[in-house]
Amino acid sequence: MAESSQRKKVCVIGAGAAGLCAARHLAPNSKFEFQVYEQTSEIGGTWVYKEATGIDENGLPVHSSMYRDLRTNLPAKIMNFPDYLEMNAVEPCCVSHQEVRSYLQKYAEHFDLLRHIQFGKRVESVRLEISPDGAEKWMVRIKVVKTKREEEATFDAIMICNGHYFDPYVPTIPGIETFPGTIIHSHSYRKPEDFSGKSVLILGAASSGVDIALDLSNHASRVYLSHNNERLNNTLPQNLTEVSGVERVEGTKIFLKDDSSVIADAFMFCTGYRFSFPFLNADCGVKVEDNFITPLYKHLINIDHPTMCIVGVPTVVVPFPMFHVQVQYFLALLENRVSLPSKSIMLDDSQLKTIKKRHAHKLSDKQWAYNDSLADAGGFERLPKFYKLGYEAWWAQRKRNLLNYKKARFLLSQDKETVEVILPNGN
Ligand SMILES: Cc1cc2nc3c(=O)[nH]c(=O)nc-3n(C[C@H](O)[C@H](O)[C@H](O)COP(=O)(O)OP(=O)(O)OC[C@H]3O[C@@H](n4cnc5c(N)ncnc54)[C@H](O)[C@@H]3O)c2cc1C
Repeated sequence: MAESSQRKKVCVIGAGAAGLCAARHLAPNSKFEFQVYEQTSEIGGTWVYKEATGIDENGLPVHSSMYRDLRTNLPAKIMNFPDYLEMNAVEPCCVSHQEVRSYLQKYAEHFDLLRHIQFGKRVESVRLEISPDGAEKWMVRIKVVKTKREEEATFDAIMICNGHYFDPYVPTIPGIETFPGTIIHSHSYRKPEDFSGKSVLILGAASSGVDIALDLSNHASRVYLSHNNERLNNTLPQNLTEVSGVERVEGTKIFLKDDSSVIADAFMFCTGYRFSFPFLNADCGVKVEDNFITPLYKHLINIDHPTMCIVGVPTVVVPFPMFHVQVQYFLALLENRVSLPSKSIMLDDSQLKTIKKRHAHKLSDKQWAYNDSLADAGGFERLPKFYKLGYEAWWAQRKRNLLNYKKARFLLSQDKETVEVILPNGN
């Protein structure tokens, strides 16, 4: 075992799935000592459903964006961490948020992680200091949420696992201030009964927009799904209509980009979230512009200060297995089992490669090559191929059948070499 003085001290911010995964790989490694700080009193992050919205009993903004009836939009089998394959739902293959939370609890118990987590402690600031020998140190200020007492601790490395779906992005809509009805962001949506008999315009048709539109359609009188993307080209409930994006609002009348208009009682922004790191001081060097984070190598490593990483930045991915790969890569780097390429290569990797900044971290079908590149560079096992096969089979069904894809049967062969996703009879 390494002498305590030689061990690297690592700070993990947050005990959601990413922070738990960091702890799972740090805990058995004698080269590290570490602390996980979690501002709430529970593990699981966004999977800890809260009926309340706004500010919680401790004066903190409610972190979770779960709604009451949410079922995952990925088959549970491919959400598993590869070293803990305990979510086994076959049919329906998508599970409730309670099941995911319970899986994360079991993962934490299985790897004995709870003793490493300091609950009710919020990281307030992270500041860089250079020690006399030139080494980078991170000064972390922590607030005990209940007593407001402050603590400070110094670390050799920082793993930022604070989640990316808690700070709502709300675009400016001309005239929205004249809208007399309910205006809400999906972050604060909880249950469809709150919209019984109302007509609701949902702005945005990414995962949450489509999912909430379907959730609402059993209770709302009418749902308009407003967006500028390709039409969904799917059978939808008869009271759910796709319309084009919103141009402006005048009272209850909402003018759309195609010069038509609709009347609604409620306006729901399903417009996504902003990457937010309120605790990072300017000297950490991390910048976020229109949801493009720089300077990051492999969407993960702070190029200017590679003892800092941000876990979970890529979007349109299967998150838990990706965390598993990102965390191992970062630890390999801290252990000097991997060396980084030259700064110019890393800066080139961090350049914007998409037309819009806000799509900079969207990986989608590039996620598999990304995960493999981290595993190969870090010298650890690639993800088993059923993740990719399962994701592709699931995605094809989702595209075809938005109403029923969550009920499908997910069949993984014994040798885990083939996957079939079969819709229930008659769909
Ligand atoms: C509505 C919705 C549906 C989703 N559906 C799916 C799905 O079907 N399948 C799937 O795989 N993924 C899904 N996701 C993605 C989900 O975000 C990831 O699965 C994963 O849970 C993210 O984990 P995380 O640890 O990065 O973040 P989080 O779960 O958000 O956890 C972050 C943790 O950090 C803590 N924290 C934040 N700031 C501080 C601070 N300053 N100090 C201390 N603690 C702090 C928070 O309290 C929280 O516990 C969904 C997300 C949302 C919002």
